[in-house]
Amino acid sequence: MRLTDKGVLIVLSGPSGVGKGTVRAKVFEESHHRLEYSVSMTTRKPRVGEENGKDYFFVTHDEFKARIKEGRFLEYAEFVGNFYGTPLDYVQERLEAGMDVMLEIEVEGALQVKKVMPDACFIFVAPPSMEELHHRIVNRGTEDPARVEGRMKKAEVEIGLAHEYDYIVMNDTVDNAKNRIMAIIDAQHSRSERVLEGYGKKVLGLGE
Ligand code: 5GP
Repeated sequence: MRLTDKGVLIVLSGPSGVGKGTVRAKVFEESHHRLEYSVSMTTRKPRVGEENGKDYFFVTHDEFKARIKEGRFLEYAEFVGNFYGTPLDYVQERLEAGMDVMLEIEVEGALQVKKVMPDACFIFVAPPSMEELHHRIVNRGTEDPARVEGRMKKAEVEIGLAHEYDYIVMNDTVDNAKNRIMAIIDAQHSRSERVLEGYGKKVLGLGE
């Protein structure tokens, strides 16, 4: 299969509470690309308003472990006491159907994807400051104080790994971050190795 027929895998990552979900939703509202979101599986309990199959596939620890054994995750990680993972079959199938697929995952999982799919596009969403990140996690109101501190400690480690990514997008405002991410997705579609395989061969006569 030609690279140009395949969608781009976009891995959106960064600390919990940075606003990845909000930015992602905005990108989906406005993107003109054939973009799909890969719904993750988790052992975390649903938050108020979250829907099974839309926000996550909520499963038990046993179900999650069985999937690991069967090799059915592209990546998975334990994050502050819960497991999260990306279904492999869905991602492969959609990329091959020519859709761009976006994952929204934490850093450990993103680094696993980098090992197996180094051609994916890795975007780190960064907070303007640690104070602002703390403020956003507390304001979200979904974590008790002990968990807020756990997420802040984890965030420090995650920000230390930002250099592993192709791009770092500051989430100062949702619109700014959304515009930056849409520009990056556009750029992926213009990468020379993608374009040359189709257009280049046909128009410039660069072999076939
Ligand atoms: P939350 O509990 O706030 O929904 O998610 C906690 C963290 O897990 C977030 O950073 C989120 O991006 C990440 N996450 C969600 N789904 C996945 C996944 O499939 N794999 C990995 N590695 N992390 C995920």
